[in-house]
Amino acid sequence: MSDTGSAVSPLAPRSCLNPAVTLTVLDPATEEPIAELEQAGVEGADAAVARAKAALPAWRRVAPADRARLLRRLASLVEEHGEELARIESRNVGKPIAGARGEVGMVAQVFHFYAGAVDKHHGETIPVAGGVAATFREPLGVVGLIVPWNFPLNIASWKIGPALACGNTVVLKPAELTPLSALRLGELALEAGIPEGVLNVLVGKGSVVGRRLIEHPDVAKIGFTGSTEVGAEVMRGAAATIKRVTLELGGKSANVVFADADLEAAAAAAPYAVFDNAGQDCCARSRILVERAAYDRFLDLLVEATRGVVVGDPADEATEMGPLISAAHRATVASYVDGVQPLFRGEAPEGRGYWFPCTLVEATNEDRVAREEVFGPVAAVIPFADEADAVRIANDTPYGLSGSIWTRDGARALRVARAVESGVLSVNSNGSVRVATPFGGFKQSGFGRELGMHALEGYSEVKSVFVSTEV
Ligand code: NAD
Repeated sequence: MSDTGSAVSPLAPRSCLNPAVTLTVLDPATEEPIAELEQAGVEGADAAVARAKAALPAWRRVAPADRARLLRRLASLVEEHGEELARIESRNVGKPIAGARGEVGMVAQVFHFYAGAVDKHHGETIPVAGGVAATFREPLGVVGLIVPWNFPLNIASWKIGPALACGNTVVLKPAELTPLSALRLGELALEAGIPEGVLNVLVGKGSVVGRRLIEHPDVAKIGFTGSTEVGAEVMRGAAATIKRVTLELGGKSANVVFADADLEAAAAAAPYAVFDNAGQDCCARSRILVERAAYDRFLDLLVEATRGVVVGDPADEATEMGPLISAAHRATVASYVDGVQPLFRGEAPEGRGYWFPCTLVEATNEDRVAREEVFGPVAAVIPFADEADAVRIANDTPYGLSGSIWTRDGARALRVARAVESGVLSVNSNGSVRVATPFGGFKQSGFGRELGMHALEGYSEVKSVFVSTEV
């Protein structure tokens, strides 16, 4: 697929698309159109579900070793096309190319991991009176996967990998703003030998085709990543057909810096923890909590480190932060700092593109900038008195996705990690996401886990079969 020409999913039949509804995909760094796509409507969604349903019986019967081989082949194709995929993602999302390469590398690792998991996720035999009971891991059926625009290919792979490994067929709906890498992945899946109908990529509006997937009686589960607001709609909609749901939603995570930490290391890492992907990261540690005893010293280091973030052309190898995704989103981000005197405001390109500078603001945990997910390069810096105060502030949020703790006191690190109500925490590190470890939220950040062996639980049902030995 050319990244400047038009593209239509080879997996969505033309007859089910409504050519009157075209979608123009923009480059957020230049505001230039990079693709014109035909969007599916409700009929398109129904057709995609029908294709996935038709492909299900044969896909379920594929021997585990063969299913693993197909996933491994897809992983290899992602590696072979890594540069092309990274460039599509960088251009469509405005991601720095170096980071986009890392994300595509993770996509390949995810498919390798779930190829390896296919024959390791199995049932058990349980001795019971009068016979034996065996459990089986059965696929759910057709699963609808709805993903956001901030890590389009990465997040899609976290769901596609375990879904296909467990023998489900998939209808993937990428975000309207960023469908290009998902379409290319669909082509690579066919090239890998994954049969037609097993992975369907459906370009269309969330309010139309996303909603239809949620309502559709033949869709067994919705794997959703996006905002908490739409996540609530997914739950409501799924209730009518008792669909399974996994929800990966918003975050407002704390980066807790104690006075005994390696302050240089913590300050060097803090900008990346917020400004990576221009802050459009559900795991962004957008509340930087600093112990008062080290507040002034840490602030100096933090401002210096933030000043060093290279903002500019995503295609430039040196760039560390690109633009925001859209004009509308930039206006939302700006609303959090309008009229606020920042601690620091960095440089950003002028002119075309949805640029926004790295911004640090001093806040209390009651301020709007500390309560809501800004989803942009804005960090709220909040002082705290002691360990109990830090835990109280960290937990004083409806969200619970991620967070970091910086301290040289190992016992305290574990105490605080246990006390913070979040699904993913790191000590003396920013890392939230690893292929082999579970990822997901507490509280209004959602439920269910992705990645690692845990994700397989969300894409299979346990069946128990009793066999009498007395007849
Ligand atoms: P969004 O909720 O607006 O959209 C997400 C997806 O849902 C898109 O594909 C969209 O088309 C679709 N959608 C929108 N309305 C829908 C509806 N009524 N029915 C069905 N589908 C619908 O989110 P976004 O703006 O694309 O992404 C940003 C949000 O995603 C942030 O809140 C961020 O925290 C969250 N996010 C969470 C994680 C995580 O793993 N927890 C990861 C990345 C992003």
